[in-house]
Amino acid sequence: MIIAVASGKGGTGKTLVATSLALSLENKKPVQLLDCDVEEPNAYIFIKPSFSHKETVTIPIPQLVEKRCTYCGKCAEVCAYNAIAVFLKIVLIFPELCHGCGACSYLCPEDALSEVNKEVGILEIGCSKGIEFIQGELTIGEAMAPPVIKEVKRHINQEKLIIIDVAPGISCPVVEAVKGSDFCLLVTEPTPFGLNDLALAVDMVNKLNIPCGVVINRDGAGDSKVEEYCRKEGIPVLLRIPLDIEIARLYSRGITLVEGIPQWQEAFLSLYNDIEQIAHQTQG
Ligand code: SF4
Ligand code: SF4
Repeated sequence: MIIAVASGKGGTGKTLVATSLALSLENKKPVQLLDCDVEEPNAYIFIKPSFSHKETVTIPIPQLVEKRCTYCGKCAEVCAYNAIAVFLKIVLIFPELCHGCGACSYLCPEDALSEVNKEVGILEIGCSKGIEFIQGELTIGEAMAPPVIKEVKRHINQEKLIIIDVAPGISCPVVEAVKGSDFCLLVTEPTPFGLNDLALAVDMVNKLNIPCGVVINRDGAGDSKVEEYCRKEGIPVLLRIPLDIEIARLYSRGITLVEGIPQWQEAFLSLYNDIEQIAHQTQG
């Protein structure tokens, strides 16, 4: 089963939930934890893995073989990202806009575009406390997060329980990380901002046809509008984590909830059982 842990906005405690869920299951079943928040991966701070493998993630960028080019403009026509332009006898390639889809070189009638690899990030694999941990990290200044996320997800082992820590928001990298999951856990906080961004995230998972449930973090800090929204939309609130100075202290020291306060393990196991039940009901 693949569980994505997402949130409409940053700073809701998504990584706190993803890491504690993974650790609470470490002795129950084989777990893979994937950090797909590639612009700012931070699950490693809590999981503290020893990495055993590192590789670069690249995408193929077109390179002009000038002597073959007839400047027909077909490459610019097919590029959906405006990463290539043809003016009179000049072909301009913008690597920072290129998604490496290969359409231009495939469709060039003169075979005038070869491909060179451009590094967009790194992927690291390690392990901690029996959990296989995989993270992607986007190269600084690079905008192409989806290829790095795809590369992390390519290492999914379906024999294991997969937990994906997703970037905040509802942009392309979030969709790339969430799609294909059996369940999406949405972490929010009981504030107007939390509610607004939760509604956007719910809309996204509904479009992807993925069942979801909510974790309310810092419960007690705001109002009851998130609860009312979930009731109205028929979305189960599966866990409430109170606003608590001790939890905030653990978080700031890079200690997971289930390690800092072991009584939380039961709550996370129960959360997992609820997710499993809902995911199976939906699939059935
Ligand atoms: S499609 Fe090929 S031949 Fe035509 S302009 Fe582009 S690179 Fe040149
Ligand atoms: S590889 Fe794809 S995204 Fe990049 S320039 Fe060619 S068509 Fe555009």
